[in-house]
Amino acid sequence: MSKTCSPSPAPPGSEWTVRQVVSRSEWDAATEACPTCGDGVDRRLPHYQVELDRERATDGAAKLTHERRLLSFCDEMCANAWLDDVENR
Ligand SMILES: [Zn+2]
Repeated sequence: MSKTCSPSPAPPGSEWTVRQVVSRSEWDAATEACPTCGDGVDRRLPHYQVELDRERATDGAAKLTHERRLLSFCDEMCANAWLDDVENR
C-alpha cells in the first residue's frame, strides 16, 4: 500500500453500497485474489462473496444506472476486515 497519488480506479468506498455478504461456492474454476490478504480464492470451494452496487449518473442523461461488483474473499474474517476498512474510511 503506497500513499502516492495515482490515477488508479477508485476503490469501493462511500459511494458503494454493500448489498449482501454470502457464503457460496460456484461451478466456476476461476481463482481470484482475496482483496484482504491476497491469497488465491478458488471459487469452486466455499468462500465469502460480497456484492456491492452503486448508482451512477451518466452525463447528459436523467436516469441513474446501477453498477454491480462482486468480490471474493477466502473466509468470513477477510470479508469482515475488508468491510470494516471500507466503513472506517
Ligand atoms: Zn483472505
